[in-house]
Amino acid sequence: MSSKLRLAVLGSTGSIGTSTLDVAARHPERIEVRALSAHSRVDELVAQCIKWKPRHAVVTDASHASEVRRQLKEQGCPTQVLEGPQALCEVAADPEVDAVMAAVVGAAGLPSCLAAARTGKRLLLANKEALVVGGAVFMQAVRQGGATLIPIDSEHSAIFQCLPEDRSTWARRVDHIILTASGGPFRQRDPASLEAVTPDEACAHPTWVMGRKISVDSATMMNKALEVIEARWLFDLEPERIKAVIHPQSIVHSMVVCRDQSVLAQLGTPDMRVPIAYGLAWPERIESGASGLEWTSLKALTFEEADERRFPGLFLSWHALKGPLGSTAVLNAANEVAVERFLAGRIGFMDIYRLNARALEAIDPQLPISPAVDELIALDQRVRACVGQWADALTA
Ligand code: NAD
Ligand code: MG
Repeated sequence: MSSKLRLAVLGSTGSIGTSTLDVAARHPERIEVRALSAHSRVDELVAQCIKWKPRHAVVTDASHASEVRRQLKEQGCPTQVLEGPQALCEVAADPEVDAVMAAVVGAAGLPSCLAAARTGKRLLLANKEALVVGGAVFMQAVRQGGATLIPIDSEHSAIFQCLPEDRSTWARRVDHIILTASGGPFRQRDPASLEAVTPDEACAHPTWVMGRKISVDSATMMNKALEVIEARWLFDLEPERIKAVIHPQSIVHSMVVCRDQSVLAQLGTPDMRVPIAYGLAWPERIESGASGLEWTSLKALTFEEADERRFPGLFLSWHALKGPLGSTAVLNAANEVAVERFLAGRIGFMDIYRLNARALEAIDPQLPISPAVDELIALDQRVRACVGQWADALTA
């Protein structure tokens, strides 16, 4: 066995994917990149393959695969190109891969996360939607496969960093956790003016630079809603023991309130390379490339309650967690469709919340107690079709 960590980066052309490669490039002695993947950004994937020479590159949108093959051949790059969504599972389960960075966006990442979990990999989870959809099924695959699940989402990494390695002590140690949220670009906007905001305004995040889908989720605070659900599974906490608070400076990344009311927090500059480096090196620490906090120039660290009128989406998380099994998958699928339509300029910003709330209200997940993955995927597809029709009616 190689002494280096053999890494597959799924979604390598995205924001988390490129930050992961940035950290990996700082540690060639300990990290070897074995696989990369992109959906459709051919030029970025080709450039990454030429730099990293991974054994495999996956093009999930198969219509772009031949172009990637052609360009790599022209450049004399030996990387083998695999195509289609199933190929993500193949590289995630490859016995010659030790760690998988799950950085695909959306529920499309679920099957490859499960493949990595079932084959006992170190699973670095950025793809929160996969856990929101998979829930108990996902966590069961992690346990049964003997995988090491390490959160990459900054809030969950913060909580994870505040907790001891021995998971069996978490339940008696933790009273509740507090996820921090920046409040996004509309924290101080008049709620009545939110109907008219544009995709570019929604994507202009004040503290983090991210992909467009999660940027819109941050503006609606659906990102925090998904993170509440993510925390429920990662830390095995009842919904009432997960709280969210607005912290505009994005310096305190989240907090654990212990049984004795002592509060443990993790702080740092808002740079995803910190949780990524932590996940790659765990239980050690390595250089991440992030700059340090300038303590004396920090004016203030402030905290505010999330206003339900401005951010009604946040509260859908607790609603979904208390609903019938599969409700969180319904919420996620509705949100993916709504955000896609909003980014395409076809529905308004507040329509995202309306569609999500309506889906939660109107769609009965009808899942058996222990659903198979195919049943979760079928539910996801059913919700997408239904919410797509509602969205069409809004634009008609
Ligand atoms: P992004 O849009 O920048 O990148 C997404 C990646 O997934 C790209 O490589 C793209 O090619 C690939 N992809 C897109 N659709 C796909 C599909 N249908 N099948 C397979 N691959 C597909 O997104 P991002 O901001 O890097 O976010 C990735 C994940 O990490 C999301 O789940 C997000 O919620 C989570 N996350 C991101 C950040 C951040 O700072 N960007 C922070 C925390 C969590
Ligand atoms: Mg986050």
